[in-house]
Amino acid sequence: MSDAAMKLVVVGAAGRMGQTLIRLIHSIEGATLHAAVERAGSPFIGRDAGEIAGLGPTGIIIGDDPLQAFLHAEGVLDFTSPAATAEFSGLAAQARIVHVIGTTGCSADNDARIAAAARHARIVKSGNMSLGVNLLSVLAGQAARALDPIDWDIEILEMHHKHKVDAPSGTALLLGEAAAKGRGIDLASKSVRVRDGHTGAREAGTIGFATLRGGSVIGEHSVLFAGEGEIVTLSHSAADRSIFARGAIKAALWARDKKPGLYSMLDVLGLSSQ
Ligand code: NAD
Repeated sequence: MSDAAMKLVVVGAAGRMGQTLIRLIHSIEGATLHAAVERAGSPFIGRDAGEIAGLGPTGIIIGDDPLQAFLHAEGVLDFTSPAATAEFSGLAAQARIVHVIGTTGCSADNDARIAAAARHARIVKSGNMSLGVNLLSVLAGQAARALDPIDWDIEILEMHHKHKVDAPSGTALLLGEAAAKGRGIDLASKSVRVRDGHTGAREAGTIGFATLRGGSVIGEHSVLFAGEGEIVTLSHSAADRSIFARGAIKAALWARDKKPGLYSMLDVLGLSSQ
């Protein structure tokens, strides 16, 4: 592995996470900003990425050609949209560079393209890149394993800012997957995503989701285990987007010398066997 700083491309450079990543890369030893990319037609094309992020000029000008940006890079940090991410996974695999995917709301089709790209590329994908949420998912899995599904109902509650476009959040789904795995059930067939009107009584063994949207909330998640006469709540509050950006950069550095494959943040953080 090279000792030189890892050359990273930020796609979605003018977005909330893109700007946070650009600010943070500068403060992390071992990582350097190589290029910044936005969607074609974005008003930020041609602007200095550092200026957009509030850092001052960096000399890295935001472009709209990912192929060109990936050419001499070693990794791409991607918090964009599902369609863009599926496209980038093919390009990153072609360029043989690390692809860190934070984008949420991917369809089964998007995920299939990402999995195909992972045959040639090192991809780290997670609905939440923070250490805290990944630890929370391990704890939720352990609690789900320990508590009888007939006596304990699992509900996942999340709140995000009003601009978020997908629901439930990638993190809520990640926590649901962890709880389902702990119980040895399949989340897709056991989850209740919406309740409205005369729903009837709660079906034992299901995992419910509730979504709140409003204001500037960065991310609030709770996993509730509701029993007869008592509730156990495991929760996480994100106070700053830098927790996700720091995790994403850590993931890129971790994947630098790994074999091609699709990895999660649990692998990066050494929590996958918990
Ligand atoms: P945002 O809308 O502020 O930013 C997305 C940016 O991507 C925009 O600037 C948009 O122009 C750009 N973009 C879209 N298509 C593009 C393309 N083809 N090429 C280049 N740029 C493109 O959104 P955000 O709040 O930064 O979130 C982005 C994604 O990251 C969402 O899916 C969100 O849920 C997810 N997210 C994940 C984590 C995590 O830890 N995994 C944390 C926060 C947000």
